[in-house]
Amino acid sequence: MSSPAQPEVPAPLANLKIQYTKIFINNEWYDSVSGKKFPVFNPATEEVICHVEEGDKADVDKAVKAARQAFQIGSPWRTMDASERGRLLFKLADLVERDRLLLTTMESMNSGRLFTQSYTIDFEIIIKGLKYCAAWADKIHGQTIPSDGDIFTYTKREPIGVCGQIIPWNGPLLMFIWKIGPALSCGNTVIVKPAEQTPLTALHMASLIKEAGFPPGVVNVVPGYGPTAGAAISSHMDIDKVSFTGSTEVGKLITEAAGKSNLKRVTLELGGKSPCIVFADADLDNAVEFAHQGVFYHQGQICVAASRLFVEESIYDEFVKRSVERAKKYVLGNPLNLGINQGPQIDKEQHDKILQLIESGKKEGAKLELGGGRWGNKGYFVQPTVFSNVTDDMRIAKEEIFGPVQQIMKFKSIDDVIKRANNTSYGLAAGVFTKDLDKAITLSSALQAGIVWVNCYLALSVQCPFGGFKMSGNGREMGESGIYEYTELKTVAMKISQKNS
Ligand code: ADP
Repeated sequence: MSSPAQPEVPAPLANLKIQYTKIFINNEWYDSVSGKKFPVFNPATEEVICHVEEGDKADVDKAVKAARQAFQIGSPWRTMDASERGRLLFKLADLVERDRLLLTTMESMNSGRLFTQSYTIDFEIIIKGLKYCAAWADKIHGQTIPSDGDIFTYTKREPIGVCGQIIPWNGPLLMFIWKIGPALSCGNTVIVKPAEQTPLTALHMASLIKEAGFPPGVVNVVPGYGPTAGAAISSHMDIDKVSFTGSTEVGKLITEAAGKSNLKRVTLELGGKSPCIVFADADLDNAVEFAHQGVFYHQGQICVAASRLFVEESIYDEFVKRSVERAKKYVLGNPLNLGINQGPQIDKEQHDKILQLIESGKKEGAKLELGGGRWGNKGYFVQPTVFSNVTDDMRIAKEEIFGPVQQIMKFKSIDDVIKRANNTSYGLAAGVFTKDLDKAITLSSALQAGIVWVNCYLALSVQCPFGGFKMSGNGREMGESGIYEYTELKTVAMKISQKNS
């Protein structure tokens, strides 16, 4: 990810107090209807940070009522100037900037995200993302159309209505912004359900939304579990759209629930098993570094992870050697500490799943070059792991691992590698490393992926659409297309006495 002028990183906040643990509806804080709470953990220490009110169907119903009320014709939100919606989002961006240290400390403690990366890389995208959406608010418009007959025709882009937004744990704050930013810019109202592992920064954001001056009911945050609160959103009859980021498995459930309820609009950003292809003519140092970052970034917990690395035969051995050297450089530990460059996985379930997949790689005959087990005895850490001699039929080459595990495979020809790279049900991202322009263009056309990076990886930016082909998703987030995903296009055809050119 590009990071031109990074601010100096301060020390994390000492003695962080968790102020917000309730359900946020209508700009007020509520206990759960059931009276239940759930624990929130620090994955580096396995300790409970606090307990949060556990939202379920009844709480989602309350939130939907508030969001529907806020979306009524004539409401303060519906009658607000588009430029004023933009101003509120700019104000929110300023408040996020003000609370940067607090939010980063909270994010790192709750999600295992490296404090330094959250403070620099995440915040750059978060603040730019909010401002990008803020600036769009008064630029979302339709067209006038020269239709046949004495008819004056124009189109309007209207907000869809009440949007449910279900987010994952691997980038809680960033995902929160990527969801609410475009939705609010277009004038929708939202109910956000953060992941059960990581509700804290979303709840702090709720307090900033109130402080920024958004009318009650425009943003509601209901923490809770997926099969309860999440399912209540996807099957709700009075929610007009659901936007989801998470696993392909749950993406299918959400699509099914939308189909069985009110056919609400669905956008999905799901899993991946992204190919990264290195030709022998590539700048080797550059390719090793990007391929490495592509899979080890954030402990491998990114949907675009370059988890199928194809390296051309003639440079294979050298590439493996350099990749192993690079992966040896990690210092593991508490992500709040500044010298650390690999934190814990999110929870025991993910940790154990990664270790199981590593075992499958060993059993199926891949060569373990580095790592291959857990690290330490407290916290959900996994050793940086590199496998060579991986073949396409192995589980580690087919399944999403979501951990710091690199699979290096060999290829012989361009046709062969295109076929193998596309031989997956996923289609989120791909990388190509070559100095040959012709190969770069051939590959970027042939690869079935929502984003193809050439001689780089993870180059994400708020101005560009992001999303998946095939089972990696539906629809796009951010960029102009991401904004329009939160609008309905209406055609108005008006009879007039006489049309003139
Ligand atoms: P992961 O496998 O990465 O944990 P999930 O897809 O399980 O990702 O979770 C992403 C989000 O989806 C979380 O907010 C989670 O609570 C929610 N979720 C999980 N199951 C369901 C479900 N059946 N319906 C709706 N949301 C769900």
